[in-house]
Amino acid sequence: MNSISNPIPVTEEADWQQLLSHTVDDPAELLKLLDLPASLLNGARQGSDLFSLKVPKPFLQRIEKGNPNDPLLRQILPLDAESADIPGYVTDPLAEMAANHSDGLIHKYHGRVLLILSGACAVNCRYCFRRHFPYQDNRLGSGQWQQVLEYLNANKSITEVIFSGGDPLATSDKRLCRMITDLEEIPHLKRLRIHTRLPIVIPQRVTSELTTLFANSRFDIAMVLHANHANELDQQVEQASADLRTANVTVLNQAVLLKGVNDSLAALTDLSEKLFHFGILPYYLFTLDPVKGAAHFDIPDEQAIALHQQLQATLPGYLVPKLAREIPGKGSKTLLF
Ligand code: SF4
Repeated sequence: MNSISNPIPVTEEADWQQLLSHTVDDPAELLKLLDLPASLLNGARQGSDLFSLKVPKPFLQRIEKGNPNDPLLRQILPLDAESADIPGYVTDPLAEMAANHSDGLIHKYHGRVLLILSGACAVNCRYCFRRHFPYQDNRLGSGQWQQVLEYLNANKSITEVIFSGGDPLATSDKRLCRMITDLEEIPHLKRLRIHTRLPIVIPQRVTSELTTLFANSRFDIAMVLHANHANELDQQVEQASADLRTANVTVLNQAVLLKGVNDSLAALTDLSEKLFHFGILPYYLFTLDPVKGAAHFDIPDEQAIALHQQLQATLPGYLVPKLAREIPGKGSKTLLF
């Protein structure tokens, strides 16, 4: 990769909250920063009107200048293709609205509940299955926290709490600390899982306060990161992963199989190998959820299975993520192979 000549300096000490509040959200600015042709602007504006552009500077720095096909750019650049109305692609592909127990709490799998801590993300991924999700009505406000604790206390079969979003790590360390402390008082809870893309797109999010909180928790903690391409993994992500592992956090990755991003044996191999080199285990490779606006990323099942078979033939088993999809109403993920 020809790395870009640093359009916006980001120091290692840059504050994650500053980086989170100063993302690039104007299509014209994005094209200018990345030396991309002005012919992309109309489409980018159309796509951005449907789901806004949002990209933080540390992620932007990993995109190759002047390359409209850069695999990281494709994940964040809005396109006019997003306005296409394709049968089968819907606004709530996982039927999450029906699974909501109360605002911010989703209980659809045995033994686990998912809490939507924050509607905010550090990056707007164009293929996101929650791109139409009404976060304003469904995230956990401070008023609902007591209700959630009561629900968890009363359901002794629940052993794991999953922090989700948006991105749960968009929440401050102070609030996370209060929540984790309250949850630790519920004796039947054993594990905490955090689904987040923040340590990938803004690695500065892994603060010493956060790792101290994890290191001192009685929970077994798993953090499931989300990177789709090896170019997303730079030296700062490596440091963030090392800090998490030092705090006894098990670090996993889930990726989405995306046309034009990682739909080749070489791209998937590089991703798995680099993840492992950074101490992160490849966990899931998901097929695209059929969300309205993202059909141009989809890959036929036969091609997904063929790629996965090639991965299995070339890599040791621990580097091969499970190829899966989520089907609304099913009690677990469905493996494709
Ligand atoms: S970070 Fe996750 S939840 Fe947020 S837009 Fe990207 S895929 Fe969606």
